[in-house]
Amino acid sequence: MRLLASLRGGGMRRLAAGGRRIALTFDDGPGNETHRFLELLERFDIPAAFFVCGKNVARRPATARAIAAAGHEIGNHTYSHPRLLACGPRRVREEIVRTQRLIEDATGVSPGLFRAPYGLRSPFLAPVLADLGLLDVHWTVIGNDWKWNASKIAGRVLAAACPGAIVCLHDGCATRPAADRAETLQAVRKIVPELRAAGYAFAAVQADRRRR
Ligand SMILES: [Zn+2]
Repeated sequence: MRLLASLRGGGMRRLAAGGRRIALTFDDGPGNETHRFLELLERFDIPAAFFVCGKNVARRPATARAIAAAGHEIGNHTYSHPRLLACGPRRVREEIVRTQRLIEDATGVSPGLFRAPYGLRSPFLAPVLADLGLLDVHWTVIGNDWKWNASKIAGRVLAAACPGAIVCLHDGCATRPAADRAETLQAVRKIVPELRAAGYAFAAVQADRRRR
């Protein structure tokens, strides 16, 4: 049971700082739709964290750069989006180290955040994260936005909203070169004003850790 808990149960699930703060996080970019997310976040004037795959960064370094330039956090989401549980220790390390370098080269930023693909960890993961100083970030609620429409996604996120919640959505689809994220975008358009009306502010993930 302890092993299973370490595989599925690890990672930060709430922001450390108190108050009515929520963090929006987007996985699997940078992709063809990422610029639309950046435009939307700019219009709302809110920060977010983007957990990017190294393979996607190699394909779209300018988009990765645009995420960082807009002031959002960038996290490491492995190179090829594997199930880490199926990877040996060398592969786990390579997936993360290679992505760290690609992000640094593209953006000039060295990520401090990591999210495991599928939220699935490996016993080989913790030492790599410790070596690279990466904070393992899970989520409070995941929007199921790879399979649901905007109103279902928004409904799920809004129902789970609570102080310190970390919301996981997607601006890409694993390492596919293109994805349609219209439903996620529409969900964000609904989620942000409703959470604001409920008194929530939007926060960065790591900034909150530093505030502790
Ligand atoms: Zn992912």
